[in-house]
Amino acid sequence: MLLSCPECNRDVSDRATACPQCGFPIAEHLRDAAEQRRQAEERSSRAAIGEVDCTICLARGFRTISLPLPDGRQREQFDWCGVCEHTGRVTLCKSSRGYFAVARVHVEAFVAGTREVGDDLVVFLGPNEPPPHRYPSPGERVVTEP
Ligand SMILES: [Zn+2]
Ligand SMILES: [Zn+2]
Repeated sequence: MLLSCPECNRDVSDRATACPQCGFPIAEHLRDAAEQRRQAEERSSRAAIGEVDCTICLARGFRTISLPLPDGRQREQFDWCGVCEHTGRVTLCKSSRGYFAVARVHVEAFVAGTREVGDDLVVFLGPNEPPPHRYPSPGERVVTEP
């Protein structure tokens, strides 16, 4: 198939590695365009579908933090988790790619496609449905003060 080169506008085969006229990297350009389409489709398929155990505190509203002791050593202790607002659960989202654990404050942005996997507090759980909750009911909901 022929397409017009984005750089010089002349006809060039879509199988060409580069444009024979101007050297524009056609193959790379087509790969990038396909990848962008794939990502746009993935984003448009996102939806919030339920709740999943918090990946940080492991479903009990706690996570381990290190506190420095006066002698320079670290003390490990439990702290409240600010991601799940102490309920032990965060929002479960799904897309064509799989399942995601998303902190409540970022659900809207994630579903709208303006927040990405790998950004803070968005965790990819894999292509398969995550395991059931560790505890039958979530802990009491307490919104932490900023
Ligand atoms: Zn060209
Ligand atoms: Zn948590």
